[in-house]
Amino acid sequence: MFKKILIANRGEIALRILRACRDMGIQTVAVHSTADADAMHVRLADESVCIGPAPSKDSYLNVQAILTAAAVTGADAIHPGVGFLSENADFAEMVEDHGMAFIGPSPEHIRVMGDKVAAKKTAIELGIPVVPGSDGAIASAEEAIEVAKTTGYPVLVKAASGGGGRGMKVANSEDELRDAVRLAGTEAKAAFGDDTLYMEKYLGQPRHIEIQLLGDGQGTCIHIGERDCSLQRRHQKLLEEAPSPVLTEEERERIGRISAEAMLKFGYKSAGTIEYLYENGEFFFIEMNTRIQVEHPISEAISGIDILEEQIRVAAGEKLKYKQEDVVLKGHAIECRINAENPYTFMPSPGQVTSYHTPGGVGVRIDSQLYQGYRIPSNYDSLIAKLIVYGRDREDCIMKTRRALQEYVIDGVQTSIPLHLDLVHNEDIMKGDYNIHWLEKFVDELNAQKK
Ligand code: ADP
Repeated sequence: MFKKILIANRGEIALRILRACRDMGIQTVAVHSTADADAMHVRLADESVCIGPAPSKDSYLNVQAILTAAAVTGADAIHPGVGFLSENADFAEMVEDHGMAFIGPSPEHIRVMGDKVAAKKTAIELGIPVVPGSDGAIASAEEAIEVAKTTGYPVLVKAASGGGGRGMKVANSEDELRDAVRLAGTEAKAAFGDDTLYMEKYLGQPRHIEIQLLGDGQGTCIHIGERDCSLQRRHQKLLEEAPSPVLTEEERERIGRISAEAMLKFGYKSAGTIEYLYENGEFFFIEMNTRIQVEHPISEAISGIDILEEQIRVAAGEKLKYKQEDVVLKGHAIECRINAENPYTFMPSPGQVTSYHTPGGVGVRIDSQLYQGYRIPSNYDSLIAKLIVYGRDREDCIMKTRRALQEYVIDGVQTSIPLHLDLVHNEDIMKGDYNIHWLEKFVDELNAQKK
C-alpha cells in the first residue's frame, strides 16, 4: 500500500480524500494556492506545499509545480480528485513517468472516454446502449440530414470535444438542422479549437441516471447501483438521490450488469461512472466519467462501501474487497449540494462565513471545507458543502433531509439551502415525478412569481 499520497485538489473533495487516507493509515500532502493558505485541507494534512497564485491555471492546474511538490515530499501516489487534472490523460501519464501512481484509470482509458466520438464507439463495442444517431463524426449538413431520416426529428448536434453543454444544438427540421450544424461547428471551434460534430436523436423528457462502478483490472468489476441526478440547472447537478425513485428492480439489475460487464471487458481499473439518459424504460449512454464523482457519497450510504478507499486500494495494485454478490443496497440517500450563491439566480456569493453550525443526528453526513471565519475565495467552484442524508426509505430520507437543512446555519454568504428546502417540500419531488428539465422550469416559475 502507498505510504504517502499527494492530493492535487482543494475544497470538500480534498478533505474526502484526506479522510480516506487517514482511515487507511496513509500520510497526506496537501497542495494549495495562495488564496487557499487557510483552507481546511491544508490545516488537516500532514504536510502542505504552496503551488502558486490564486488562478487555477497557475496552481491547481500547474502540472510542473504539482509534480515538484510530490517529488520534494516523497509522495508515492497522486490523487487528482474531481475537476482540475482528474481527467487529463497527459497528466496521468506524466505522474507515472515520474515513478508515482496516478489514482485513477490508465491514461489510455481516460483518453478514450474523454473523446465523445471515440467514447460512443467504444460503448457500442462493449455492448452499452447508446442514443441512436450518426456512426461517428458527421462531415456535412447533407450527411446529418441523411442520418436524421433514420432517427427522425428532433435531433441534437453535438461537439466531439464538447463539455458543459457547449456546442450543442437541437433541430426540428431539415432547415433547422442545416443551421444547427453551422452554429454548433462555429461554437465548438471557438470553445474547443475543434469543430468535429456528431449527431443524436434528441430525447424530450429524459432522466439522468448514472451507474457507479469499481474495477480492479484483475478480473473483478462491480456496480453499486444507480444515482438519479436529474435535478440540474445549466447542466450542473444540484440534488441527487439513490436509488432512483422510478427504476424497477429489473431495470436496475439489467443496466448495472450491462455496465459492469462492459467495464470488465474494457479492463477498467478504478472508480468510474457511466452516465445514461433514461426514457420510457430505456437507457442511452451519454458519457463516462473516469474519476470519482461529487455525488459518490449517496452510493456509499446505501451500500456501506467506502468508494474512495477501494479506488486507492486498486490503484496500489490490490484486488477489490467486494464481489458483486457482496453488494447489498439498502435504504435511501439524498445529497444536497450547497453552493455559495444566490439560491434562485445562481449568482456566486463568495465572502466570509460569519457563523457556522452543522446539523447532526441519525443519518446525517457533511462533507465540507467550511469553518466559522473561513473566507470563501471567488476563484473557484462555488460548492462549499455536501449534505448527505440516509434514511430507511425515501420518505424517511426526505423527512431527515428537511430536518438537517433547517438546522444548518451558514451566515455571511448566500447559499442554496433555501432552494433545497423548497425542493424537499415540493409535491413533484416527493412523488419522484421529475426529469432533467424540471429544476430550471421550477426556478423560472419562482422567479416569475417574485417579479
Ligand atoms: P457535456 O459534456 O457538454 O455535458 P453531455 O453529452 O454529457 O455533454 O450532455 C450534457 C447534457 O445534455 C445531458 O446531461 C443532457 O441533459 C443533455 N443531452 C445530451 N444528449 C442528449 C440527447 N440525445 N437528448 C436529449 N438531451 C441530451
